[in-house]
Amino acid sequence: MLVDSHCHLDFPDLANHLPDVLQRMQENKVEFAVCIGVNLEDFSKVLAIAENEPRLFASVGVHPEYTDVEEPSEDQLVALAAHPKVIAIGETGLDYYWHKDKPEWQRERFRRHIGAAKRCGKPLVIHTRDSAEDILRVMREEGADAVGGVMHCFTENWEIARQALDLGFYLSFSGIVTFKNATIVKEVAQKCPLDRLLVETDSPYLAPVPYRGKPNQPAYVRHVAEEIARLRSLSFETIAEATTDNFFTLFQHARRT
Ligand SMILES: [Zn+2]
Repeated sequence: MLVDSHCHLDFPDLANHLPDVLQRMQENKVEFAVCIGVNLEDFSKVLAIAENEPRLFASVGVHPEYTDVEEPSEDQLVALAAHPKVIAIGETGLDYYWHKDKPEWQRERFRRHIGAAKRCGKPLVIHTRDSAEDILRVMREEGADAVGGVMHCFTENWEIARQALDLGFYLSFSGIVTFKNATIVKEVAQKCPLDRLLVETDSPYLAPVPYRGKPNQPAYVRHVAEEIARLRSLSFETIAEATTDNFFTLFQHARRT
């Protein structure tokens, strides 16, 4: 059994083919997936998808890339996260690739997400791009280790990985780990303790080899797990079992039905 810890099923590429997407999951033994919220405007869509399907969970948050959207208050995030299908707070974090001026509002927004996660006891789903130092600093300042979470689509080096692991966070690997030139990601996927490893697709983006460049879907998380098994000289079953157990250990509100 596999779990896709991070996908965007409300995005049109996937939302328009949901029955097919679920069918392909089943064929590939991907039993669960988390539909990740990226803004409040679309959250009801994310939640509806999860409500209609026992195999799907949801998260609530506002992605750091988004500027012209409703700014969430901590209270608002806590209230929305009270829904039993919502198992995490995020996607949140810092993105200095799209916002090279490193704006203060991103750190403010991130701090509110950490505050909300601590209040409702639901872990964080963290996005970091060109911002690893500040991510770790804000995580420490806000005591994010009290609630924990996952560094999603992890692409940083081992030194950053080690610091996130020290804060009790999990590392989730996407299709990038299957890319030939992703040397650093492969190295970190090899070194990450087996009990802190998660897998994801981040679909519809980042399709793994052999689908690279094509639309991604949760079923393809299988290829991510296969590559990590190969890198660590372990069986596919070992990686599938470990990442599934880790998922349910971290996301205590996800019911394994
Ligand atoms: Zn995402």
